[in-house]
Amino acid sequence: MNIIIRLREKYATLLSDKQIPLIHSRIRILTFGLLLMLALITVITINSLVKSDFKTALRLSISIAAMSAGLYFLFEKSRWRLAGHLFMLSLCSIIWTNILFYSFGINLVTLQLSLIIISASFYILGKNWGIVYSLINVLPIILHLLFTHSQNGKITVTPLQLNNSSFMLALVVNFGILIAMHHEFFKSFFKSNSKERELNIKLQSALKEAQEATRLRSDFLSSMSHELRTPLHAVIGLINVLSVENPRKDQEENLAVLRFSAENLLALINDTLDFSKMNAEQIVLNKSPFNLTVLLNNILASFRPKAEQKNIDIRLNLDFGNLPLHITGDQTRLAQILNNLVSNAVKFTDNGGRVEISVSIKNRSQDHISLLFAVKDSGIGIPRNKQEIIFEPFLQANNNITKRYGGTGLGLAIVKRLIGLHQSELNLVSEENTGSVFSFEISYELAAPIVSQEPEPVNSPVISTISNLNILIAEDNIINIMLLKKILDQWNCNYSLSKDGKEALDMVKTGVFDVVLMDIHMPVMDGFEASRQIRELPDVNISKIKIIALTASSDVDIQQSFSYTYLDDYLTKPFSSQLLKEKLEGVVQQLSGK
Ligand code: ADP
Repeated sequence: MNIIIRLREKYATLLSDKQIPLIHSRIRILTFGLLLMLALITVITINSLVKSDFKTALRLSISIAAMSAGLYFLFEKSRWRLAGHLFMLSLCSIIWTNILFYSFGINLVTLQLSLIIISASFYILGKNWGIVYSLINVLPIILHLLFTHSQNGKITVTPLQLNNSSFMLALVVNFGILIAMHHEFFKSFFKSNSKERELNIKLQSALKEAQEATRLRSDFLSSMSHELRTPLHAVIGLINVLSVENPRKDQEENLAVLRFSAENLLALINDTLDFSKMNAEQIVLNKSPFNLTVLLNNILASFRPKAEQKNIDIRLNLDFGNLPLHITGDQTRLAQILNNLVSNAVKFTDNGGRVEISVSIKNRSQDHISLLFAVKDSGIGIPRNKQEIIFEPFLQANNNITKRYGGTGLGLAIVKRLIGLHQSELNLVSEENTGSVFSFEISYELAAPIVSQEPEPVNSPVISTISNLNILIAEDNIINIMLLKKILDQWNCNYSLSKDGKEALDMVKTGVFDVVLMDIHMPVMDGFEASRQIRELPDVNISKIKIIALTASSDVDIQQSFSYTYLDDYLTKPFSSQLLKEKLEGVVQQLSGK
């Protein structure tokens, strides 16, 4: 009794939950086969002994030993595969000895056994061993058929055999084993299938939930960062205003700290938003034609003041000279990649160093061009063991970087993903205290040169300075309005206010304005729509009015739409008063026809 309990316990541990249904079935078929066959062969052996058929008894006792060993390995050692081999070998030995040494013939039971071996070896031991054991057990049958032409392949079931009780028992038990084995295997097959289906359904719904959660997180971040950016723009804008109002030395220092912190915070907000959008796979590349040479020169110009502060020699090295190169692609994302890399190059290069942005043509066909971009600096470099981790979000080469240079550690993670979206990768060669080169290759379609839209003459009085300009401010945020008023008041500008796009449109229709400073995110009617409707007004003197968009720095859409359709120019918040002055002076020049 104890033995049965122990065996049941062992059997339960063999069928642990960790295993898949298929393994359970294999172990069940093996256990069932071993026990039943062992019982059957033992009965036949005893029967043979009773009938003094010692040859059969000896032959079958080999199989009894092999099957007993199989059961030992199965229950005592949990080695079910080894037990499976012993089971197969013992069955094969019955076939071999029966055909070659004992009855020298094939009968129904031999064929049944042969079928059991073929099916059981595949079910228990898998495809490869299934083939091996099938061949081992079929071989003596084929040999026998080849060498004994006398039987003409007929299966012998003699009346003598039919009267033999062992033969009858074996026949019935073998049928039982065949049926049970297939039943068990197909049960596990369907169980696995339905389990897989169940898992698939669960997986699908988990995926949906995860995608929804990511989208919600990204939407939340997007609206939150917009709310955070607005006051931050005002802070930075006011710092700019205060900086030009002749502050005392100590105030100047305080303003510098304030600016550093506010700009860092803004960069963190923008980067986090961008990164989360990228993770939510919400970023797709837009394609429009642009002039690469102009873009690169603009990037260079935007970093020049910072580089000059540190006495860094910053230059552009284009192997197509300064000739215009018109390509089709995502201008904003390319600018974002280069801005990040150049910003790092300038940041991590000490006074008197060099930064070079180079672009070379790797391949050019009739309609495509492959360009190699590289940003090289003579800065602090990156230690070899940190050259991988710096591409991970929020990781920097060492802990002192934030203290000394600021930054969020998100820039390169964003750049890497953006370059990935272009089906390319970012490469780095760097040596500590010598400098770094970040490079990547992107293939673009070539585009036809962009025809610049010459402004049509507008009947307006001669305007010589920005104080003569009639400016319409379209802005809903009171802090931004206050800031703009403060800046424009410095230059004695004439301006009017509208609190949304609709009001701006109405005022443009009735008033006489030279330029609109158009915020993009506004209630009632946004800046895009207002600009579009202004451009469609029938009076050309009104529809050609200059529109300068005011955008948040991560407003990629606006920079895309600034494909010169509705907007003449844009300013990224927070902008310096100097930049606004330059833009307005540009308007003055255009209006005065210079
Ligand atoms: P951040 O510049 O905001 O710290 P990045 O992801 O752009 O974040 O860069 C990660 C880190 O990689 C930086 O903190 C710096 O340690 C290192 N790094 C990036 N570019 C350079 C460079 N041109 N020279 C030296 N170190 C660099």
